[in-house]
Amino acid sequence: MKYDIAIIGSGPGGYVAAIRCAQLKMKTALIEKYSTLGGTCLNVGCIPSKALLDSSEHFHAASHSFAEHGIGVQGLKLDWDKMRARKDKVVLDTCKGVEYLMKKNKIDVFNGHATFQGAETIRINTTGGGHSEISARNVIIATGSKPADLPFAKIDKQKIISSTEALSLRSVPKELVIVGAGVIGCEMGSVFARLGTRVRIIEYLTTVIPTMDGALGKELQKSLKNLGVEFYLGHKVKSVDTKGKKVTVIAENSAGEEAAIPGDYCLMAVGRKPYTENLGLDSVKVTTDARGFIQVNENLESGHPGIYAIGDVIGGAMLAHKSEEEGVFVAERLAGQKPHINYRAIPWVVYTWPEVAGVGYSEEELKSSGRGYKVGSFPYRALGRARAAQETEGLIKVLADKETDEILGVHMFGARAADMIAEAVVAMEFRASAEDIARISHAHPTFTEAMKEACLAATENRALHM
Ligand code: FAD
Ligand code: NAD
Repeated sequence: MKYDIAIIGSGPGGYVAAIRCAQLKMKTALIEKYSTLGGTCLNVGCIPSKALLDSSEHFHAASHSFAEHGIGVQGLKLDWDKMRARKDKVVLDTCKGVEYLMKKNKIDVFNGHATFQGAETIRINTTGGGHSEISARNVIIATGSKPADLPFAKIDKQKIISSTEALSLRSVPKELVIVGAGVIGCEMGSVFARLGTRVRIIEYLTTVIPTMDGALGKELQKSLKNLGVEFYLGHKVKSVDTKGKKVTVIAENSAGEEAAIPGDYCLMAVGRKPYTENLGLDSVKVTTDARGFIQVNENLESGHPGIYAIGDVIGGAMLAHKSEEEGVFVAERLAGQKPHINYRAIPWVVYTWPEVAGVGYSEEELKSSGRGYKVGSFPYRALGRARAAQETEGLIKVLADKETDEILGVHMFGARAADMIAEAVVAMEFRASAEDIARISHAHPTFTEAMKEACLAATENRALHM
């Protein structure tokens, strides 16, 4: 069977690329080594983590903030098995949804591990020991990523675990040590801290989620501390001992002082690495960089003409929606269209509560680039809606060009930031000025008023409610 396109990997990059290719009338094959479609995102990433974040947030609100709303809850108890089962059902339903989309778009799905046998032929080894071969004029590699670990502390899935195991623990741990205060550290730390686990996070650098705008990092750290999370920032992990009943992490600060931190598990959240195992890249001219990411040009084409790569496996922001955009980009280029991805306008979100979200440049990046900029920010506590909802923690910060007033970056920490960042993305894609947004009517009372006010503050320091 000769396909116009074969896509290896059914994560958000791969399955979305498949749909767009099929829409553009290409005969499309999708190959996935696991029995369910959806990749990291649907099976062990975005979807299950958000399911547990939402459930644990409800539990925490019921035990901590309902009373202030005049709601008494007696006999509140946690049913972890049920919480986990709900998460599993959400995952299953979402994966089934992708299966349905493949059928609807007449995409041939192959179950098995794909390996290149030369440029146009792919061997598919099925779990049962059988194999088949397909050929395709073009191929998209969308094989994603796997959790990284430390050379002296390998993930053993028993005591030293990754997010995958953390999402399916049989019971809520009493103590959890997390290495890495990045996105996974903060999200999974939130889940378990809300459920009563003593959570301690060790971070090599001196801030929480070091890549985000510094103002937000500070706010997030404060908020997580209030939740009970303990931080060991600026600490280097020296060893992880798994011999006893507990796991003990030894970490050292810059003064050379050591701390021994015990836990039922040590969750490794130190980033993810590209996954190209047994892909047969040596039989084609596809190269990888020193860290294993597949190298592509501006068209996302690898060194081998006709073989493209997208998503986590090529590096950059490891985000589901970035993978999706790249999948659509390659499909449309193959169809002769002229798509474009504005990487600066790809938003990111951390689903703690309050949420953190951002798009564009951070203040630190603008400072170091030497570009003139203005800052406007507005606190949630000045919003009527935030007081009504008892969600007064947070702020929105807008960075605009000093001369032109063009919005260069928006950073949000607060309730519903995950959804509200979309307005900032639209503004940046249309190259709006802060004044453009400030002059647009925002419904009252809503959290979105903070965006208008922050833009007013950035325009001429003329926020109305502050
Ligand atoms: P993947 O989703 O990793 O999919 C790759 C697929 O390829 C896998 O199914 C794999 O089995 C398959 N595969 C690999 N090799 C082969 C082969 N040789 N043959 C056949 N199949 C193969 N991102 C967000 O944007 N928002 C979030 O809220 C978010 N939360 C996350 C939470 C967690 C806990 C984790 C771990 C990640 C999260 N991410 C989130 C990141 C997101 O999951 C990834 O960026 C995204 O899944 C990458 O998509 P992808 O298609 O590139 O690869
Ligand atoms: P990350 O890159 O976000 O954070 C890793 C953290 O570990 C960094 O702060 C880093 O400084 C720290 N670190 C690295 N080595 C260390 C060491 N030896 N000791 C102590 N700290 C160390 O990675 P992650 O949290 O593992 O997440 C992996 C990927 O998954 C990310 O790229 C992220 O984009 C994606 N993800 C996204 C979301 C989301 O969009 N909401 C959620 C979860 C995961």
